[in-house]
Amino acid sequence: MKGRVLRSTGSWYLVRLDDGKRMDCRVKGKFRLEEEEITNPVAVGDEVMVELEDNGQTAIIDEILPRNNYISRQSPRQKQTRHIIAANIHQALLIATISQPRTSTGFIDRFLLTSEAFGIPAHLILNKQDILTGKDFKKQEEVVKIYRQTGYPVHLISARSASNVEKIKSLMGGKTTLLSGHSGVGKSTLINAIHPELTLRTGNISEFSQKGKHVTTFAEMMELPFGGYVVDTPGIKEFGLLDVEPNEVSHYFREMRGLLNGCKFNNCLHVNEPKCAVKQALEEGKIPEERYKNYLNILEDCEAEKKEQYE
Ligand code: GDP
Ligand code: ZN
Repeated sequence: MKGRVLRSTGSWYLVRLDDGKRMDCRVKGKFRLEEEEITNPVAVGDEVMVELEDNGQTAIIDEILPRNNYISRQSPRQKQTRHIIAANIHQALLIATISQPRTSTGFIDRFLLTSEAFGIPAHLILNKQDILTGKDFKKQEEVVKIYRQTGYPVHLISARSASNVEKIKSLMGGKTTLLSGHSGVGKSTLINAIHPELTLRTGNISEFSQKGKHVTTFAEMMELPFGGYVVDTPGIKEFGLLDVEPNEVSHYFREMRGLLNGCKFNNCLHVNEPKCAVKQALEEGKIPEERYKNYLNILEDCEAEKKEQYE
């Protein structure tokens, strides 16, 4: 039987079988891992083949179907190994707000870089339209322009007054969606407006940890009643974590990627090098200044990170 892993609790996996039934499954023996540095053999979102055990109640996962993509993070204890947070994700929706709280374009660009690096198409959703004032609208116009110009879909919504929420709902139908954004931008409110019976765990995580309770770091998939899944990750830090090489950063800036062959030096970082196609495009207004500024910041962080690793 074929199924999809909804939840992992270490040694047991909750699998949704293709007929809709849910079953607790285990892994028997060892999987030969394609990527040797991966710490968890089976991840949330994996498509698996399972075989019923003799008791008829539980099953054994005996095959993981090839992953279309996955998001992963460095495992905290062994720096050389990676932990897969979730697999087979169709899209990442970043919920941001111009006001209360203000999401910076620096944060948005880090998110977009990470989604490019993992090969996951991203959408930007600007929530809380109902509370924007004159000045906010002006700021928003700039933000919308930058990201539409760069090729990212931008949606303006209000989760509280359910404005444009239908559009997001139809975007999610039949797909596996990663929902991300700073705390307080309205992720839970949006999910609730989409389907009142679903609740995100994201909002409660810090509460739990303050009480000193064990906080699970596993992601979980919630099934949408109209088809599709939402990946609920405890905290969004994992997705913002960069461990790309400095010279890779521009590959994950969509508007720069196509220009890179035009630079004089093939190891060009597009900072001060002569005959740089990226700087040229910037001067011609083909790359938004804000994006370039954020590029430089991310590049600096990556270089600092590398330095740390070698010291
Ligand atoms: P989360 O941390 O991303 O899950 O954010 P919440 O969904 O908990 O929302 C944080 C706060 O923003 C709550 O007080 C919500 O009522 C409020 N909020 C969420 N969406 C909207 C919206 O569209 N408009 C307004 N005015 N407030 C919103
Ligand atoms: Zn260059």
